[in-house]
Amino acid sequence: MSEDVVIAGAGPTGLLLAIELSLAGVRPLVLEALPERLPHNRANGLVGQVVRMLDRRGLYERIAGTPGPPAPAPQYMFGGLPLDLADLPDNPLYLLPVPQRQLEDVLEARARELGVPIRFGHRLTGLSQTADAATARVAGPDGEYELATAYLVGADGGHSATRKLAGIGFPGVSRDDSVSRSAHVHIPDELRDPATGGLRVPGHGVVPPFGYHRTEQGLFVYAPFPSGPPALNTLEWNDLDTEGEFDLAGMHASVRRVLGVDVGFTAPAGPGPHLLRRLVGGHTRIAETYRSGRVLLVGDAAHVHAAVGGPGLNLGLQDAINLGWKLAAALGGRDDLLETYQAERRPVGERVVTHTQAQSALIASGPQTTALRSVLAELLADRPARLRLAELLAGADVRYPAEPDAHPLAGRWAPDLVLRTETGPVRLAELTAAGRPLLVDLTRGHDLAAELAAGTGRVEVVSAAPIDGAPTAMLLRPDCYLAWASDSADPDPAERAALRAAAGRWLAARRVVEPVA
Ligand SMILES: Cc1cc2nc3c(=O)[nH]c(=O)nc-3n(C[C@H](O)[C@H](O)[C@H](O)COP(=O)(O)OP(=O)(O)OC[C@H]3O[C@@H](n4cnc5c(N)ncnc54)[C@H](O)[C@@H]3O)c2cc1C
Repeated sequence: MSEDVVIAGAGPTGLLLAIELSLAGVRPLVLEALPERLPHNRANGLVGQVVRMLDRRGLYERIAGTPGPPAPAPQYMFGGLPLDLADLPDNPLYLLPVPQRQLEDVLEARARELGVPIRFGHRLTGLSQTADAATARVAGPDGEYELATAYLVGADGGHSATRKLAGIGFPGVSRDDSVSRSAHVHIPDELRDPATGGLRVPGHGVVPPFGYHRTEQGLFVYAPFPSGPPALNTLEWNDLDTEGEFDLAGMHASVRRVLGVDVGFTAPAGPGPHLLRRLVGGHTRIAETYRSGRVLLVGDAAHVHAAVGGPGLNLGLQDAINLGWKLAAALGGRDDLLETYQAERRPVGERVVTHTQAQSALIASGPQTTALRSVLAELLADRPARLRLAELLAGADVRYPAEPDAHPLAGRWAPDLVLRTETGPVRLAELTAAGRPLLVDLTRGHDLAAELAAGTGRVEVVSAAPIDGAPTAMLLRPDCYLAWASDSADPDPAERAALRAAAGRWLAARRVVEPVA
């Protein structure tokens, strides 16, 4: 066996998976088909739980480029309808505006710090597998070669070669009834509204920045990024004229159709490359299985859907977080843990597919959509409705399967707490950077760590003062979801037995191949 894990694809998902495997003591090999990373961006930001997850791995500040922990967003949108979040008591929606290219740079740097080899210009072209191993066929700069590996992970995007070569179906729908156009532009000063950061459009007032401005003819977005030129984006259903090269004149024409007026933008100044993109239609598909023997899928390789509301990276990066420690456990013989990857993550993917389709319906053109939007807008005056949608968009409502009699928080994301330890206050998020399981004991000296007998690997343990309204004890899996929790000041023998069972179920012994930095 030459490799433990080969990852096809050095996009954000493949890179984060490589980091997670390294933290779990496995050194993967990453293959990337491109000779070098493309200069332009797809995503412009992260939306949802993944922002908190990156904070819990110590990566948030590096990606954001600003100090301090993330804070929830005061507002967002659902299907282009404004979602006011400022009055939610426990607002779950976090945003991190960051160009995808910058995110990839930070993840690649972190993976390299951990010693992960990344081979650019090496494309996966074939695979075969037996019960014990997979063999990847790779086309590299010096010709073709084969790699034997215990597991092969396809993080190779929506057109995934891994998925196709493994014969995994990708059912869903492809539509060609819409056209999205995007361009970097220069906006003259007189069209900029300094008070709101929005765009002054005759007949429409000020179009707010980054919002979805819907008309009966289509959708218009003005995105003044903090660095680089602003971008304009349109989405149309009625004019599918996609003949010829797309250029700035085509962007002007599209904006005129959507808004009914001319907007006086010009070509952007400064060094490019500048965005000029036309995409026809879209796909909504999910892999029929995330695992086929020794082959696994993560990120866009496993699911594609509309980009409305920006859920792609929230979904894909959390696939990687869920898979890394389980794959490491499987290398140590715990295939049962690896089996839970599909059971936990595919339903989350299905839910994202559902809400992106719902949002796509809400931004479509036509009077029926306008009527639907006004009914929904009325409902969104109610705080519980806004909270439900915020949780859906964030993925904060995810509960992985748990025992029927388990604590209500079992299977859920561990709450953000500030722990008062003997050495001072510490955020829970600061204790999970190493990706190890964590026992949080707030029972004042009832020694729950004694229940974590040999065989459960290295578990971090932190004791702190009780916190009003929080559990008295929690066992966090490496992905920060709860394996067990208690509300008792002194957990009784039955609860302690449940803690031992949860530790046995979820905490595999670590299999450190080589020390990592
Ligand atoms: C226009 C647009 C805007 C978007 N905006 C947002 C947003 O704001 N927020 C958000 O969260 N998401 C957004 N998304 C979605 C987001 O970009 C994707 O979900 C994300 O890129 C998926 O990451 P990935 O690593 O799974 O796949 P990719 O980013 O597609 O990476 C796959 C990698 O695999 C490589 N590869 C392909 N084939 C092979 C092979 N055979 N062998 C080896 N390597 C291979 C590719 O070169 C690539 O580097 C947007 C998408 C689009 C198209």
